[in-house]
Amino acid sequence: MSQSLQLHDRTASALDEGVSLYVHVPFCLSKCPYCDFNTYQGIEPQFGDFLTAVLHEITTWSVVLGRPTVNTVFLGGGTPSYLPDGDVARILDTIARNYDVRIDAEITAECNPNDLTPEKCAELRAAGINRVSIGVQSMDNGLLAMLGRRHDADEAAQALERCRRAGFDNVNLDLMYGLPRQSLDQWRDTVARVVALAPEHMSLYSLTLEEGTPLRAWVQQGRLPEPDPDLAADMYDHARATLAAAGYHHYEISNWTLPGLESEHNLTYWRNLQWVGVGPGAHSSLRVGEAGSACRFWTVRSPRDYARLAREWADGTADDGPWPAITEGRIAAVPTVDGSEVSDEATTAAETMFLGLRLLDGMDVAAASARVGIDLLDRYRRELAELAEDGLLVWEKDGRLRLAEGAYLVANQVFTRFLVG
Ligand code: SF4
Repeated sequence: MSQSLQLHDRTASALDEGVSLYVHVPFCLSKCPYCDFNTYQGIEPQFGDFLTAVLHEITTWSVVLGRPTVNTVFLGGGTPSYLPDGDVARILDTIARNYDVRIDAEITAECNPNDLTPEKCAELRAAGINRVSIGVQSMDNGLLAMLGRRHDADEAAQALERCRRAGFDNVNLDLMYGLPRQSLDQWRDTVARVVALAPEHMSLYSLTLEEGTPLRAWVQQGRLPEPDPDLAADMYDHARATLAAAGYHHYEISNWTLPGLESEHNLTYWRNLQWVGVGPGAHSSLRVGEAGSACRFWTVRSPRDYARLAREWADGTADDGPWPAITEGRIAAVPTVDGSEVSDEATTAAETMFLGLRLLDGMDVAAASARVGIDLLDRYRRELAELAEDGLLVWEKDGRLRLAEGAYLVANQVFTRFLVG
């Protein structure tokens, strides 16, 4: 087996820091009209094929990467809580048997409130999930209906209560603001009610009308009003003030936590570390080849094609052979991988700045430069000076660089300034 394995030396040593594992679950009971994720309703007959395929991918990546340490696991989607009973346990058992999972690893499952029956909560807990992320979105029943959600506000609160009874002490709630027809009063009420529920973590997302979604079409057709960005900004400011008063630490543009419970898995992305994604359409990032460069690759999006390719891979009948090769700067011969790219120096530099500045405590630019092998201060001398002069970036006394508070809502405009040369 191992003679077919080609793992570049630098990749092998980069893996000493461990990886995060992301498992993409493409099933949803119904498709929400605002969602453009790679998820599907009505494909439940594929549950079994998906499980077989994802277990194969998990096992094989362990062999390819030399059984690395796993720092965090995230079951996302889609709706992992919608998987048949026992599937989450099989996924986590397979990970535990094939990787050195850190004893204190954060292991998250995204869940919909309706799925979180007492039995499902107990099952997830027994399987090894230690962090639950619940898609609440709003505590206004009219807005929940507009969003195509299958729960109401009371059911969302009950879901959290059931998680507590099952022993979960690290729960995230996802909320959305800037919705069509959403008033500031409705948002204030939602924020007050979720704060009263005392989750450990909250992720607040401004609605984006994604291309191709029914919600975008309804707005374009005039069936729903265009969301008002100024009102969305007021909602964000209200949430910031309320959550700060309630003791939540605002640590990333869209994320708040009680002290010490930042999402370890998402920090992997924001710190531009390494992760392996399995499941249809999942993305991975591993450092290969030149210092600082990352090889990004992604699996085929179609759950049916993904399962077929994984089956052929497992059978050894795939055209490209059963074992992947990660060689200098590229990944090859992985049947389920649909594409890959190696970030060049310009991309690596820009990404390091975007991602580092999303964390509101800021970034140590010198340390980040050393990590990626690019002198970021030198590369962005002019941009950094202009952005600081415009009051959008702040240099702290300890040398860290951070977004100014007034720039949180225009962060993307700040980030585009790093897309030079
Ligand atoms: S439940 Fe979540 S992943 Fe599924 S369609 Fe709705 S928003 Fe998308």
